[in-house]
Amino acid sequence: MDLTGLKIEDLPVIFRRDDRALLEEMVRAAVDMTRRYFGRTISLYAPLYISNYCQNECVYCGFHASHVDMPRSKLTLEQIDRECAALASTGIRSCLILTGESRLHSPPAYIREAVIIAGRYFPYVALEVYPLEEKEYRDLYLAGVDGVTLYQETYDRQRYDELHLAGPKKNYDYRIDAPDRIARAGIRQISMGALLGLTDWHEDVMRLFEHVRSLEKKYPGVEFGLAFPRLRRVADDEHNYFEVSDREMVKIIAAARLVFPRAGISISTRETPVFRDRIIGLGITKMSAGSSTRVGGYIESKTDYEDGQFQVFDPRSFDEVKAMLIKKGFDPVVTDWRNIVNI
Ligand code: SF4
Repeated sequence: MDLTGLKIEDLPVIFRRDDRALLEEMVRAAVDMTRRYFGRTISLYAPLYISNYCQNECVYCGFHASHVDMPRSKLTLEQIDRECAALASTGIRSCLILTGESRLHSPPAYIREAVIIAGRYFPYVALEVYPLEEKEYRDLYLAGVDGVTLYQETYDRQRYDELHLAGPKKNYDYRIDAPDRIARAGIRQISMGALLGLTDWHEDVMRLFEHVRSLEKKYPGVEFGLAFPRLRRVADDEHNYFEVSDREMVKIIAAARLVFPRAGISISTRETPVFRDRIIGLGITKMSAGSSTRVGGYIESKTDYEDGQFQVFDPRSFDEVKAMLIKKGFDPVVTDWRNIVNI
């Protein structure tokens, strides 16, 4: 099969075919394409959780509002400063600030202050917070936000409704329209994804790709990125989910690279070191490293916590990930962007 010029509409057939030779061909083409557009560079970043209060009831997440045993906390501005300093001292230069989804506990003004503080330590600051109004995104852009990550979780409206029991996140349309608001606000990078496993991944990946393609056409000045987090079941959650195998992940990432040659594709520490190391080069351009998913996790540098948003399966430090990349012949990048507009 000729994979050059592969189109999104070609994917349903490819996704349904269990054909080892075709998958190997896709992998080779994806490796070539990644090399052509990104060389051997892999950008490194780390998440920075500043609050874990949440108003939503996503059945698949341990942070959900009615999980009363979950210790809740929110960093003060002084603690955010110390947390940024601790993270920056590891060598990380790109940070992704996260909150649970609570406008009440983490209002836009608080997030804005966090962005301004982080901007003193990191040349690249991105956000993963609840969906905001366009004006609020604009204010955050002016405060120094370079990118926003927002996952639709699942594009299946009915399944979305079943899995998001209560809270503002129940509003499917407000969430799906958020990337438009982010783009109109002037933010230059938008990372999108679906939480694989909530429903049949074939459908979600197709809808995600179509969504990103339509946004690319509307906002040619924006860089769209992709991520494919796999669901990790939390304790006591007995809902039925859909398994996504390593082989299927390889197929999804290769397909993403082939239909979006220039898109950044990231892989988080939800994945094991073995899997992460294996798929570098296939299409991945961004990796988290030395991550803590705990509020205040870098000041305390605890590694055996149970109150993170999800378990970190790759506990390697920033230096260890960097060393692994160099050993494999990649070029770890800590700074590829410096915003001079607001200085
Ligand atoms: S997935 Fe996000 S919005 Fe849902 S419960 Fe967890 S932290 Fe809250």
